Amino acid sequence: MTIHLDLATVLLLHQCSFLVGAVCFVYMRLQSRSGEGLGALAAGYFSLALASALAGLGEQHLLSLPVWGFGSVTLGVAGYALFWIGIRRLSSGKSRPMDWWALAIPAVVAVLAFATQFHVVSYLRGSIGNGFAFASLAASAFCILRDRACERLPVRFLLAALIAVGALLALLVIAGLLVPSVAPMTPIWAFFLRIMCQFAIALFIIILVTERTEAELRCVAETDMLTGIGNRRWFMSSLPRSMIEGDALLLMDLDFFKQVNDRFGHDAGDAVLVSFAEAISRSLRPGDSFGRLGGEEFGLYLPKMTASEALATAQRLCGVARGLVVECGGERISLTVSIGVAIAVDDQRSLTDLLKLADAALYAAKDSGRDRAVLFDPSLRAAA
Ligand code: GH3
Ligand code: MG
Ligand code: MG
Repeated sequence: MTIHLDLATVLLLHQCSFLVGAVCFVYMRLQSRSGEGLGALAAGYFSLALASALAGLGEQHLLSLPVWGFGSVTLGVAGYALFWIGIRRLSSGKSRPMDWWALAIPAVVAVLAFATQFHVVSYLRGSIGNGFAFASLAASAFCILRDRACERLPVRFLLAALIAVGALLALLVIAGLLVPSVAPMTPIWAFFLRIMCQFAIALFIIILVTERTEAELRCVAETDMLTGIGNRRWFMSSLPRSMIEGDALLLMDLDFFKQVNDRFGHDAGDAVLVSFAEAISRSLRPGDSFGRLGGEEFGLYLPKMTASEALATAQRLCGVARGLVVECGGERISLTVSIGVAIAVDDQRSLTDLLKLADAALYAAKDSGRDRAVLFDPSLRAAA
């Protein structure tokens, strides 16, 4: 079966794909807080839709060649400049005023067109327009992959791959115009495939914005607002469901914390909590999980420990708290912490069990005078 694609139909589809993309970007821009760059992308897609519409009118002889040729090449180049600006802003999440200088390129193309009339020569117009499309798309794909180091969203690979395919198709259009005998497909077919690509790029840009919003919401839901460390939800979800031998759980509770609030005020109490969380976070290994369970209670998970190592770590952390002096409102506030330690042995694998044992050990630490760490042992089982 031979499929015949006429240029006017392909251009109509082309402009529709850009219009749909632009409307989606505008909608996302209005709905999302993390949509930096979507405005420029929408403007870019509108500009490309307009360029395509002018070319379509020209194909149907409704506009003179100098008019539609000039309009389509300058608007096309402006559209791809805006696309690059939008992708850079979207990818980095930052607004970069210098990027707007890219809009000088369509201005230069317009002046060149006036001076040389290259836009009335079909292959020159097509090659220059698609050459710039290639450069803009290749730079955009690179940008998305490069910014992966700052924000690891899985969708970046797919989006970069799709934009790279778009860049390749722009090259194929140029090859079809300049060296049709060796080009693997006609420019119309390459153009047609770019329509699919455009849709997919718009879709994956929206997925990127959605993934970013989800990651931000997850972060807010799992972070303790005061101390900036993980909250109870994060702490519990970061622990393995069943504990294996050598997993240690530490429950920490600041001593006489109510008195800190009563004597120095609630703000001073807050400052103590922040300093304590920072000091403990600094003293941990990379694989340890430390979170604020609520109030002045914190939890710590230490994998791959022996009982004596876990107890020694807890005693060291008691020392860290003891050594802290929090300065707030001209006062110097010192603090201590009590820590209950429980370690998983072969027959105690459930997280809830281990939490109960650590809690019993914490009670024992409080009962025996505070400012100390107590390792759970079977004599505390009645309390657990
Ligand atoms: P203990 O040594 O037995 O643990 O005594 P405590 O005073 O530390 O314990 P208690 O449970 O009696 O008091 C805990 C206090 O922690 C009461 C509450 O007002 C305070 N608190 C809880 N959350 C916060 C907070 O976010 N900021 C401040 N400043 N205080 C808090
Ligand atoms: Mg408490
Ligand atoms: Mg307390």
